[in-house]
Amino acid sequence: MNDKKGIEVLKDMRLSKSTAFTAEERENLGLRGLLPYAISSQDIQKKRAIENIRRKESNIEKYIFLSALQDRNERLFYRTVIDYIQELLPIIYTPTVGEVCQQFSHIYRIDKGFYITPEDKGDISTLLDNWPEKDIRVIVVTDGSRILGLGDLGCNGMGIPIGKLSLYTAGGGIRPEHCLPVMLDMGTDNESLLEDLLYLGYPHKRLQGEEYDEIVDEFVMAVQEKYPMALIQFEDFITPNAYRLLERYQKKILCFNDDIQGTAAVALAGIYTSLRILGGSLRDQTIMFLGAGSAATGIADLMVTAMMEEGLTIEEARHKLWFVDINGLVTGESKNLQPHNKPYAHDYKAMGFIEALREIRPSILIGASGAKNTFTKEVVELMSAHNERPVIFALSNPTTKAECTAEDAYKWSDGRVIFASGSPFGPVTINDRVIVPGQGNNVYVFPGVGLGAISVGARYLPDSAFLVAARELARQIHQSDLDAGTLYPKMTSLRTISFEIAVAVATHLYQLDLATLEKPRNLRAHIKSMIYDPTY
Ligand code: NAD
Repeated sequence: MNDKKGIEVLKDMRLSKSTAFTAEERENLGLRGLLPYAISSQDIQKKRAIENIRRKESNIEKYIFLSALQDRNERLFYRTVIDYIQELLPIIYTPTVGEVCQQFSHIYRIDKGFYITPEDKGDISTLLDNWPEKDIRVIVVTDGSRILGLGDLGCNGMGIPIGKLSLYTAGGGIRPEHCLPVMLDMGTDNESLLEDLLYLGYPHKRLQGEEYDEIVDEFVMAVQEKYPMALIQFEDFITPNAYRLLERYQKKILCFNDDIQGTAAVALAGIYTSLRILGGSLRDQTIMFLGAGSAATGIADLMVTAMMEEGLTIEEARHKLWFVDINGLVTGESKNLQPHNKPYAHDYKAMGFIEALREIRPSILIGASGAKNTFTKEVVELMSAHNERPVIFALSNPTTKAECTAEDAYKWSDGRVIFASGSPFGPVTINDRVIVPGQGNNVYVFPGVGLGAISVGARYLPDSAFLVAARELARQIHQSDLDAGTLYPKMTSLRTISFEIAVAVATHLYQLDLATLEKPRNLRAHIKSMIYDPTY
């Protein structure tokens, strides 16, 4: 029971309704005199909030306003974000969050989230006692080593867990008090941050090797002890660490890596939708990736699982997938291949990207390289020469890193491309037709997968859960979306999509006997009952 009164109520972000407190509440809570006369409904407050946001001239100022609102009146923040999700998603997440992370130490105002540094070794479990909430269900953790396509941002990467958890609540309905953003601040190798007087992180070179692994392990174990039902989402770790940690923990605890598995599900859903336009099945496609990091390989691995369900052997499936990285086509001859690249290093001669496009003639081209403008006019024209409807996804984030813009892809293919991007692009007019390019945003998948997993008390999340999520997301794309040229559903349906993905994933986990909670008689009603509603 809460017995706060007066100004304490107004200062509590979870309790405050600000000007929406009724006359009776003002009387009972000792608020008379502390608020102006008018009693605003939440709807009016929301209109005031959006008016304020729209008045801000830069996206980063909009972000700062929203972050402060979250800290003053959490329910109004979520009401506003949910009701204006299309407009505000690019502010609370990509692309603005990239800019926020770059400037994090300079725009820092409000203490949010949980920070762990090498100096906390041995104390992590005790430190978690300082967190005010005890029933944590979803943790997003990063070490800031590869933030979006922006590289090592050290502790400034905290913008990512904070942003993603806001989306868990806004999109998936996970209660905000059940969310914990964590920064494993292991130092940074970014010299400009180390030289920055205002930098807020642990001002040393990154911890590496065993010492690093020991801290991650201590953190993971402390979470198991304090919050045994919690899902850990690993986010924006540099690729070798991302894979190593996923391999170590995937089947031991409830966790996933969004850059690998979440991206894979979103991209595959977009491919399934493209196939509704193209006809045929996934196994008939030849797919090339530019970039052979965690995002691209994650997509490929899930595609292999999907193609095997369509009847191919693992070798046949892998042979449909080709990678080009910074050194050219990935082949058996390529040097310094990482373990995750080896299954796709085919017996083929070395060559550059353009030559590989000419020889291998992919029907689907996916960019996850973090290298801007690499899908040149020549690339798009080659794809269009080889395919009636070329499928091109330029997934690199933020917008400044995209392999090509939506406009260029449509222009250079004379409107024939089936296109999706990682960051949002505005509508494009081509041949008198207005096309709204689809954004393969991970937010379509992770809140639903997370909600599904925690709703059953999952022991762990198998890869197949992401295939289930991809299929469910593709199912949520309506003909009207396709007619508008977009491969993904409207963001305004995000809560419905997340709910349906949660139900599908939960059902799948019961089928695989990976749930620890007894199956409720009505699973949909059970999941619905967990969903946070920010209405007063
Ligand atoms: P990563 O660092 O693990 O991999 C990058 C890969 O790109 C490496 O294989 C590198 O060799 C290759 N590369 C770099 N420059 C290249 C060039 N000029 N030509 C060819 N290859 C080049 O990074 P990652 O985690 O795989 O992420 C890559 C990008 O994908 C990032 O920009 C990230 O924001 C984006 N991403 C998008 C989504 C999404 O749209 N939903 C999700 C996750 C990641």
